[in-house]
Amino acid sequence: MAKVLKSLSLKTKKADAAADIDLINQFSVKKLSPEEVYCFSVAMCDNDIDRETERFTNKTLDALAPMFVGKTVISDHSWRSGNQIGRIYDTFVQRAAEQTQAGDPLRQLIGKVYMLNNEDNKAIIDAIEAGILKEVSVGVSIKSRTCSLCGERMHINWSSWKMECEKHHILGETYPDEGFCFLNLDDPSDAYELSFVAVPAQRNAGVTKAVNDPDVDEAFDTLLSCPDLSEHRRFGELLKHMQQSSMQAVDREARKKILEENDNIIKIFKKENI
Ligand SMILES: [Zn+2]
Repeated sequence: MAKVLKSLSLKTKKADAAADIDLINQFSVKKLSPEEVYCFSVAMCDNDIDRETERFTNKTLDALAPMFVGKTVISDHSWRSGNQIGRIYDTFVQRAAEQTQAGDPLRQLIGKVYMLNNEDNKAIIDAIEAGILKEVSVGVSIKSRTCSLCGERMHINWSSWKMECEKHHILGETYPDEGFCFLNLDDPSDAYELSFVAVPAQRNAGVTKAVNDPDVDEAFDTLLSCPDLSEHRRFGELLKHMQQSSMQAVDREARKKILEENDNIIKIFKKENI
């Protein structure tokens, strides 16, 4: 199963802390007053085709909405302590006026977030209000990635380094009779985090895969059987990814702890609402 990170330009709107304080207090350890919190709504992700030529389907957005309630907001996808800056207390999907590149009505998954209105968070609140933070991105787990043209599973062709489906539609190509080929992301199994990103993520930088992914196993087999990679045009990129993977070990450990904490908080929340 692939964990996917998806970015979106930051669009926030201040929310009414007084009106939402009861919702917020469902997730806080001590009872908070409206003056103690800063809260806002943010478009977390949508159903448009993104720069990785993928999109969340409408069904996926609807399924993700409840999965994000109670989840953590971090900065720059770093789970280390101090980077956990807020919590999502409500979510909904809304129809926007625009259309997607595929010609469908644009739908956005909106998250309402609260942060403690204190000195520690002052810099980030100022950055949100001043528009310095450029992007948000979500980390979710997706079971199905299929071709938009035929619905077949897509995988990397390790000879061409391109994504293609069983019927050989190639991701990003336009076919005269069938149209533009992109990936549909379906069947989400979990939502992990919303992250504020100060610098827009590089193309392809955000997509990671679980260790037991068959595509990754296949990639390792290919790498291990190849006598000389130094001339390969993407060798430098591969090295960079390998370095990043090992550097992220500390983050992964911190993230595991926070996700366990989240599970406990969400369990308490659900019991209170039975
Ligand atoms: Zn196809």
